[in-house]
Amino acid sequence: MNILSTLRALDPQPVRPQKEAKPQQTKGIEIKSKREVDLMRESARIVATVLKEVAAMMQPGMTTKDIDTYAEKRIREMGAVPSFKGYCNFPASICASINQEVVHGIPSAKKVIKNGDLVKIDTGAYKNGFHGDSCITIAVGSVSEKAALLMRVAEEALYRGIAQVKPGNCLLDLAGAIEDHVKAHGFSVVEDFTGHGVGRNLHEEPSVFNFRTHQLPNVRLRPGMVLAIEPILNAGSKRVRFLADKWTAVTVDNQLSAQFEHTVLVTETGYEILTDRNLV
Ligand code: MG
Ligand code: MG
Repeated sequence: MNILSTLRALDPQPVRPQKEAKPQQTKGIEIKSKREVDLMRESARIVATVLKEVAAMMQPGMTTKDIDTYAEKRIREMGAVPSFKGYCNFPASICASINQEVVHGIPSAKKVIKNGDLVKIDTGAYKNGFHGDSCITIAVGSVSEKAALLMRVAEEALYRGIAQVKPGNCLLDLAGAIEDHVKAHGFSVVEDFTGHGVGRNLHEEPSVFNFRTHQLPNVRLRPGMVLAIEPILNAGSKRVRFLADKWTAVTVDNQLSAQFEHTVLVTETGYEILTDRNLV
């Protein structure tokens, strides 16, 4: 069976290849007005705040359910609604994926966070009609050298991609920069999920892929586009499989996975990271 038919559409998005690339596709891609961008800044700020707080509070012995409960409380306190909860029937406000879990880990009171874990926390907030979306990887206590390197390269890869965001550049410029950086360190880019446009919907056009491909539209960037850029790196094979819960994707070889994501606005001259945690 084709793996694509088994993927659930949470965040990041499953890849849906097209038969033919459309290099200049703009149809279906929203250009946000200044007013809409201002509203998105608020949703993105809430997401950044929650992730910053979660990174500071995470300790061995906590469960991923504890983190979910905290994140939902904070999102609601700031006047927003968790973007993920109920999306395609996902039961929680965050995805919490530990070590070899790649994406879409379901928070659970049985999942205890341990010293040495790499924990990916992905969350979204919806307020005033717009979503913000971001993901971080947190090193709990002291992690292995390899885990620390994977995490560092994952964050660097995100910023390499973001550095390519400017009017006139295309999605392949982002993807190439990400892929090259990851491969230079001997890691792999997961190809089963992509980033996406974000705005009134959690997932909008285009698919923001993190690897060179001609199976997805190579969109030219224009001011006012807002993209969720979210490379996923595996220490070993790029391939993933799904657990019996039908949500959690894990690496096929049980090796580690790391991910970072930002919601990024294309400006007249380059980019603005709307989920920047340094600004909250
Ligand atoms: Mg996303
Ligand atoms: Mg996300």
